[in-house]
Amino acid sequence: MSTNTLQYKVGLTVLRAEHMGMCFGVRDAITLAKREVDSRPLTVLGELVHNDTVLNDLRGRGVQFESQPDKVETEAVMITAHGASDRAKGRAEESGLKLMDATCPLVHHAHKQLRQLVKDGYPPVVLGRRGHVEVRGRTEDLAECDVVLSEEDIDALAPRQKYGVVAQSTQPIARVHEFVGYLENRFPAAEVRFVDTVCQPTKQRQSAAVELAKRSDVVLVVGGVNSNNTHELARTCREFCDEVHHVQGPGDVRSEWLPASGTLGITAGTSTPDILIDAVEDRVHQLSGGLRETSPEAQPAMA
Ligand code: SF4
Repeated sequence: MSTNTLQYKVGLTVLRAEHMGMCFGVRDAITLAKREVDSRPLTVLGELVHNDTVLNDLRGRGVQFESQPDKVETEAVMITAHGASDRAKGRAEESGLKLMDATCPLVHHAHKQLRQLVKDGYPPVVLGRRGHVEVRGRTEDLAECDVVLSEEDIDALAPRQKYGVVAQSTQPIARVHEFVGYLENRFPAAEVRFVDTVCQPTKQRQSAAVELAKRSDVVLVVGGVNSNNTHELARTCREFCDEVHHVQGPGDVRSEWLPASGTLGITAGTSTPDILIDAVEDRVHQLSGGLRETSPEAQPAMA
């Protein structure tokens, strides 16, 4: 078993998922934003990361956030790890903005895969959340593209001879395979070409969450309320554990959730910083009579 285990003196065992928390794509984008804002005013286009603790820290350093390029007041703007369409980047450059691109290399790769499918003559279908910034970035440059996230969405697709399918990078891979199978059954005469664009960090976090949930009486999933992949992790954990709580920080942890004896698992979404995960674990420790003392109200300081 690969989870990290800690035995508490009151009989509560805490497990940490083997893979959890911030992925390299988000971490690199945050590092870039911190470095840049030290030398010049900087605006991030959209949400850099779906986590208020991280965003508040960046705001404190002077980073501005804006979703509309025409409202940006600094010369330098940053594209987030989720990426953006060429059209959106072009619009920003035309309005005189200097672009810094922090798009995750795995998102770049996914853009390339989708373009290749279109070039090869496969009408594109993205398995993902319509309106999510990563999905918008991938689809805005295409003349047409279907975005589906349910069997009903697939039922509603126009019948075609071919479909070229990719997934949003943070979708659970098991569900993606189910949808591809459903699409193949729904249109048995069609040729379905599927390219797996779910990123490796997401797959690792999902499979580690399954392992964790199978062994836990209670699971805490740490992450921002707007974080899609945190919601997905919580949903996956609920398939294997009856009691799963999504918490944004240590202040959300409730003593009545903690079993007097048994196992509590902790995992976290790809936008959750380590310091927040540690603070949640400290709070569990404190509430269960452990040795470390951490105030739940204390906002963790960011590195
Ligand atoms: S979730 Fe995956 S694709 Fe998205 S930024 Fe992180 S590593 Fe990159």
